[in-house]
Amino acid sequence: MIQNPITSDVHFERDGVQHGYLRLPHSRDDSAWGSIPIPITVIKNEDGPTALLSGANHGDEFEGPVALFDLARTLAVPEVSGRVIIVPAMNYPAFRASTRTSPIDGGNLNRSFPGRPDGTITEKIADFFSRTLLPLADVVVDIHSGGKTLAFVPFAASHELGDQEHQARCATAAVAFAAPYTLRMRELDTVGLYDTTAESLGKTFVTTELGGGGSASARTISIARRGVRNVLKHAGILAGPLESAVSIQLDMPGDECFTFADIPGLIEFCIELGAEVRTGDLVARTHDITRTGAAPLEHHAQLDGILAARHFPGLIQSGDCMAVIATLVKGD
Ligand code: CA
Repeated sequence: MIQNPITSDVHFERDGVQHGYLRLPHSRDDSAWGSIPIPITVIKNEDGPTALLSGANHGDEFEGPVALFDLARTLAVPEVSGRVIIVPAMNYPAFRASTRTSPIDGGNLNRSFPGRPDGTITEKIADFFSRTLLPLADVVVDIHSGGKTLAFVPFAASHELGDQEHQARCATAAVAFAAPYTLRMRELDTVGLYDTTAESLGKTFVTTELGGGGSASARTISIARRGVRNVLKHAGILAGPLESAVSIQLDMPGDECFTFADIPGLIEFCIELGAEVRTGDLVARTHDITRTGAAPLEHHAQLDGILAARHFPGLIQSGDCMAVIATLVKGD
């Protein structure tokens, strides 16, 4: 097996706090023997479970970086039983450019897993997580948000998995995160996801979508902070009770949850994120921007539920994901 070129100046077996870098060689015009230093923190206190926490898998999603740079700075060794590995900005080149994908190779990190040690810059990052960091972890939290083109109601999520015990373990950890919503998530395409790689290794994996629009709010940042600490408590790495919050359970039973735009235009959402809808209710309208006098195209809910995600920019292109309706899971 080819060795990954990324080196790290932190030692994963050393007790204490270490702030350092994953150093990814990147030879280029403006830096012949240059590298990309990806910040990493390891906080370890004797034996116990390991949590791997990450943000900015997509570079335009900021709740993860804010919560995790902060956690890396403030988490004290005596608080920890076990180990916490924090990478606040996984796709660091994309994060620095505030873009979803890497400005170096166009790589979408969350479509590049399990990666390649001899691949593109983005594939090398993926490979390092797949073969070096994930095997160290028991519980993995990857904090996502909608980025510049989507906005979500804040949720923590787990996936349907083949193994019931594994699925229950992931679902329980997502509940522990205590976001305002907890979702059993359906992916459009599982190929290349960090999630899929972590789950294939049997890890307890929690992902989130906490907001969107290319920035982070005080509310969504506080949800990220609370959620990460809650999962660390749930894993037994931090002591103390979970900071609980009312969380609404959501499901995505089928592909009818997704609405895609057929024509480009000016999008008008007629309801807010989180609003409850019945089948047939008006969700949005697309206005023709090439002429006046044309009736807008109406988009109606195809099932009962809530508006869980929406296209964020004011203009929409054909093929864009316009809206996601998630169903409310009735009480136990
Ligand atoms: Ca994302």
